[in-house]
Amino acid sequence: MTDTFRALSILLAVTLALTLAGCRDRAESGYAAGAIEPKSDTFFMFDTINTVNVYDERMTGQTFRELEAIGRELDARLNRFSADSEIARVNAAAGKEAVTVSADTCEVLRLALDMARRSQGKFDPTVGPLVDLWGIGTERAARPPESEIRKAAGLVNYEWVELDAAACSVFLTKPGMSLDVGAVAKGYAGDRLAAFLKERGFRSAIIDLGGNVVAVGQKADGKPWRIGIQNPETSRGKHVAVVEVRDQSIVTSGIYERYFIQDGVRYHHLLNPDDGYPAQNNLYSVTVVTDRSAYADALSTALFVMGLEEGLAFAEALPDAEALFLTRDREMYVTGGLRDRVTVTDGDYKLMP
Ligand code: ADP
Ligand code: MG
Repeated sequence: MTDTFRALSILLAVTLALTLAGCRDRAESGYAAGAIEPKSDTFFMFDTINTVNVYDERMTGQTFRELEAIGRELDARLNRFSADSEIARVNAAAGKEAVTVSADTCEVLRLALDMARRSQGKFDPTVGPLVDLWGIGTERAARPPESEIRKAAGLVNYEWVELDAAACSVFLTKPGMSLDVGAVAKGYAGDRLAAFLKERGFRSAIIDLGGNVVAVGQKADGKPWRIGIQNPETSRGKHVAVVEVRDQSIVTSGIYERYFIQDGVRYHHLLNPDDGYPAQNNLYSVTVVTDRSAYADALSTALFVMGLEEGLAFAEALPDAEALFLTRDREMYVTGGLRDRVTVTDGDYKLMP
């Protein structure tokens, strides 16, 4: 990214975050009358806008700096595009040797590989070669030649990762393989930031890492937080529904922010490791509600790649997660445990029985 572009991004980030906060104060999403004014801060990291609202007069700028530092350290470890990150070092050693990583990176990889197994590879943290090839979200994004897609897809297989979780050592056993933990890193960071706030005695907060939300505690008036589900067809800050949560995380994987259109097809950033193409289905987004944000993050990506039918059945069978699917026909499907906690706020969208 050029300096000018980065500066513009940050400016845009701050403007968006302010707009977002403004909308939320007026809207249904949990910051309504009754709540005290939050102490608020915004950071640009994980390649996105992050806003933290703490509903406690004791929150200080110093504590925000400490919170931000935790996020920045995780970003520096997990972002494979910075050459000295732990993930980049593991990737550079693919096919050659094992690399020792920090406890954080180790735990992120353990979670990611667990989701890979459970989803039978629909979620796969070795998707790096495909992410590089498609370049979605960058200026060079375009549909690659079929032969290159096949070649890159042939390098994606979580079973070829050797993780020694006790020693925190990782080995990518084939040359050319690469890890990309973009689908779980923000969730993991959300959990860490929430734990930090709780340790410091803060009981009521909303951590929003580019749409990955961790709702700490409940509202000051004892009611649940009401978190908006982004309308996939409009700019940020407009909701199609709100979901009630207390002390849980709510994470959305959607195709409305990172994509390009070529010959009438929308190519987005959620890739199907089986064929190497952006998952071709009728979904706009999948939202997951769980106790742990890293789990919600990985699961929302997995469910999206599975598609509506398989994803809904998969989520329904999980005892510890709920999900909401939005289709391109403006239909909303939710798992049983979420039904009573969802309110549709946009008449164009229909909650399906
Ligand atoms: P976002 O980053 O927009 O919040 P996700 O959490 O769903 O959305 O993560 C998407 C990112 O995860 C992609 O940009 C890519 O780096 C990576 N990714 C894409 N497809 C997969 C997949 N099938 N399994 C694991 N990670 C993926
Ligand atoms: Mg995700």
